[in-house]
Amino acid sequence: MPNAALPLDLAILPHSAWNAIGRGALGKCPRCGGTHLFAGGLKPVERCRMCGQNWTLHAADDFPPYIAILLTGHLMAPVIIGLGKVESLPEWAMMLIVLVLAGSLIAAILRPAKGGVIALQWWLGMQGFAGNSGKAEAGLA
Ligand SMILES: [Zn+2]
Repeated sequence: MPNAALPLDLAILPHSAWNAIGRGALGKCPRCGGTHLFAGGLKPVERCRMCGQNWTLHAADDFPPYIAILLTGHLMAPVIIGLGKVESLPEWAMMLIVLVLAGSLIAAILRPAKGGVIALQWWLGMQGFAGNSGKAEAGLA
């Protein structure tokens, strides 16, 4: 599918990689910031309804789950250590608390991580975005 995104004013384009990543992490189109990046769940929309950017060109692959697992592990470590010090807490209750918290954290982090990774790939012109990087479009390349 060719990239036939509509030309945008420089003021609408992100001004930095972090700006693009922030838009993606919030589930907004990294290019225009105007509408949803995801069609539902973890699948990005084919094209942005406002700017026409093709978001099927990404190849986020395993990086978003890696980010979610890494952050969850670092956030859960002190919780697990703290729960381990509570002697009155039965093991099954500790396991249940840890499983629910870890599962919830991964579920909460996964979509923002995927949005950020897609935005970074677009900004840097990686994978299917090669030759049409956001950085170049914003005049920063
Ligand atoms: Zn857009």
